[in-house]
Amino acid sequence: MKRIEYRHLPTTRTHPVGANESLYDNAMANLDRALALLDREIPHDWAAKLRTPKERTELRLSPQLSDGRIHTFRAFIVKHNDALGPCKGGIRMSPTVTLDDVTALAMEMTWKCALIGVPFGGGKSGIVADPTRLKPDDKQVLIRSFTRTAHRHIHPLVYVPAPDMGTNETDMGYIKDAISYSLGYATTQGSYVTGKPVILGGIPGRREATGRGVALAVAEVLRRRGDSLPGAHVIVQGFGNVGSVAARALAEAGASIIGVCDAYAAFYDARGLPLEALLSYAAQHGSLKGCRAAPTVAHAQLLEKPCDILVPAATGNQITGSNASRIKARYIAEGANGPTTPQADRILQRRGIEVIPDILCNAGGVFVSYLEYTQETQAEQMPLEEVMSRLERRMRERCALVFDTARDRRWTAREAAMYCAVKAVWQALQARGALP
Ligand code: NAD
Repeated sequence: MKRIEYRHLPTTRTHPVGANESLYDNAMANLDRALALLDREIPHDWAAKLRTPKERTELRLSPQLSDGRIHTFRAFIVKHNDALGPCKGGIRMSPTVTLDDVTALAMEMTWKCALIGVPFGGGKSGIVADPTRLKPDDKQVLIRSFTRTAHRHIHPLVYVPAPDMGTNETDMGYIKDAISYSLGYATTQGSYVTGKPVILGGIPGRREATGRGVALAVAEVLRRRGDSLPGAHVIVQGFGNVGSVAARALAEAGASIIGVCDAYAAFYDARGLPLEALLSYAAQHGSLKGCRAAPTVAHAQLLEKPCDILVPAATGNQITGSNASRIKARYIAEGANGPTTPQADRILQRRGIEVIPDILCNAGGVFVSYLEYTQETQAEQMPLEEVMSRLERRMRERCALVFDTARDRRWTAREAAMYCAVKAVWQALQARGALP
């Protein structure tokens, strides 16, 4: 494969990037880099508006769970920027999620919505809880408690949540039900939440949209580079919604999945893994824990195995300054949000490894959420074929925008993606005028 030459870019970093990088540090560093690229286009006082979230809220949830006791959970909602439209972004449920993580993820949503071209701003929520330790009924109660407590924030014109790590389609159904219950109607007028079951106004293909979008982005970038997806060796980190669907879609396109892992187990076989067996085990057991369908490997080693395409689809900060020099992939397709730190980015860039950045690569989910939002607003139902063909067209168009910009300016794809996204948000801010 050809090495890609990048022009050295001056940065005016205002946010420190060190060994203990957080999602927030990394999001700010990526924004600083984009602002440096836009140096003569965005005045400094306006740049502060892009840096600072519009609203950060911390909530306390105190549901009574099945043990009869009141449990207290913290939750967060961040609305980063609504210049382009209502804030859009998933609900992360994790025992370690912080307000700063949610702020970083909300900011990423601002750029992602702008880049994929949907009329939404960026938002995100977090619930500090371990979904793997909650009984299904308790998780439902917690989700309903979140909805009730966050009610004043969730509205089709204000903030529209969706699934993220630790939450799913079923949870979004409970949110819709809790809202319609409190409004007093059987349903809601307009889309308060996306990623719902189809029977409740969801859209066919939303659950698969992010993973399918990852596979479409990979196919498009390889095509542009003259590389072939059939026969390519792929490793996928994370076997939840995004990772498992991306693995299946890439396998359907002819790639060989040689490594996968979730939080509990990692598998590797250079001759190809029995993907269907792994998928059905995960569907049956909720994870790959205890699966014996393939040879196992240590988690840290899996990321460093030779492959053509590495798909980090688990969580943030997985490819860092400490392991980037040992990554042997040719392409990294960021299914997760923020899996690569800026320090790792620089190492990968030097080594000629092409990164398909998260705000492009995993934007299929929010694009199909937008289709769900418009469908529900108009009380229509869109068939799966239409959803998939619109997703494919949009992923192709936006890959072309990012990779043409990167080629013309000799930037990395992340720099090009951030440049296009931040510029679009800035143009929307400008068009709205300087409000007092
Ligand atoms: P999920 O909860 O369905 O799955 C997460 C998977 O990652 C699970 O298999 C889990 O076991 C695994 N995992 C967690 N920590 C891990 C670790 N340290 N090492 C290996 N595996 C680990 O979540 P998801 O919806 O698939 O989201 C995954 C990522 O994709 C997140 O970063 C999320 O923000 C991002 N994302 C999701 C969507 C969406 O539509 N769901 C859209 C855009 C981006």
